[in-house]
Amino acid sequence: MRIFQPPEEKAFRQEVRDWLETNVPRGRRPQEGGEAQRDFDVAWRRRQFDGGWGHIAWPKEYGGRGLPITRQLVWYEECARAGAPEHGHNVFFVALQHAGPTLIARASDEQKAHHLPLILKGEAIWCQGFSEPGAGSDLAAIRTRGEVDGDDIVITGQKIWTSYAVHARYQELLVRTEPGSQRHRGLTFVICDMKAPGIEVRPIRNIAGGNDFCEVFYDGARLPLSTVVGGLGNGWDVAMSLLAFERGAASFPVAIETAARVEELIEYVEETRPGRWRDTEVGARLAEARADAAALKAMVHLLIARGSPAGEGSHVRLFMAELTKRISALAMDLLGPDALDRNALGGWPRRYLEDFKTTIAAGTSQIQRNIIGERVLGLPKEGARAGGKA
Ligand SMILES: Cc1cc2nc3c(=O)[nH]c(=O)nc-3n(C[C@H](O)[C@H](O)[C@H](O)COP(=O)(O)OP(=O)(O)OC[C@H]3O[C@@H](n4cnc5c(N)ncnc54)[C@H](O)[C@@H]3O)c2cc1C
Repeated sequence: MRIFQPPEEKAFRQEVRDWLETNVPRGRRPQEGGEAQRDFDVAWRRRQFDGGWGHIAWPKEYGGRGLPITRQLVWYEECARAGAPEHGHNVFFVALQHAGPTLIARASDEQKAHHLPLILKGEAIWCQGFSEPGAGSDLAAIRTRGEVDGDDIVITGQKIWTSYAVHARYQELLVRTEPGSQRHRGLTFVICDMKAPGIEVRPIRNIAGGNDFCEVFYDGARLPLSTVVGGLGNGWDVAMSLLAFERGAASFPVAIETAARVEELIEYVEETRPGRWRDTEVGARLAEARADAAALKAMVHLLIARGSPAGEGSHVRLFMAELTKRISALAMDLLGPDALDRNALGGWPRRYLEDFKTTIAAGTSQIQRNIIGERVLGLPKEGARAGGKA
């Protein structure tokens, strides 16, 4: 993808390749959610940490290698090439892709020293407690309360669509701490211990058969004030840092892995319809998917080369989410009646069902378009256009 690869990057790539060759798990990741899948992900994470690959870009003092983000992309590329478990689908997604980066950017030294190594060693799965019934795209409408009581903060309310809450030890939790406050004022970001008394997790069964996303209820759950990140009342600002990671760099592994998934489909068609597909509609759709996957990868490299200005990650997120759905729909067409088996062709039908979420989670496609319009293209704000509050 890049025209010039510095020699040290070439050496790094070889080192990664050598390690992956002997360490990528032989067995497939269990397809059904639940404990078997969680245990698989925990074991793989631990193996990476023990092998010295806990994280490429996180600081050395917390168990990372402290290397530039371009090396992180090399890691993703080599993992995809080696058929390693996908970074975009595992129980550490929240912890690695947005909780960790947000802590690095915004947390206290004590918070970082405690939480970051736990994540890298596979000892702490995280979930995100932002969305509520009535507050999804409109995050500033959240109502879950955090009342300061002495040295504690007491949480009461409800979150919904909380991915991995059944497995999580910690949660990125956004609550309203200033009574009577409106919108983005008076919010606080807390690291919530999911084992605290007063927290109840109720799994929701999704269309793909998994149950790792949940409702979470808080009934006077007491957390020490030392769990607040960025100070009381500054939660919106911390949440915006987090969403920049979630809507930006968190898409990178999926973007890189998409190209490998397209090649998987091309291989399948070569095997099942040798020589009979190239000049057909199937051939054209596969060629388009391959070109789009290459474009997506190029967008990631370009974004990094440009230093990722605020808001710009949303165009990668949007293109990635829509392309992912298009490619899994193509897989379903290729499978025909075999698609009735959710595990056919390495689980593509299950993936097709799971991929409905990609244009909803982390902000719907409409919200990403709004962000691109307002923050990248400099168009008037949505409320201003409608004549309402900006
Ligand atoms: C599989 C999955 C996993 C998730 N995991 C988590 C998680 O771990 N933690 C968490 O906190 N949340 C999670 N979410 C929730 C997700 O962030 C929300 O579903 C999303 O933000 C949309 O909110 P909503 O569902 O309330 O829909 P709404 O906000 O009610 O939106 C409904 C429709 O209106 C459109 N719309 C809303 N506002 C605008 C606007 N201003 N302009 C144009 N169109 C608009 C939306 O695009 C959408 O089509 C998850 C969701 C899914 C599907």
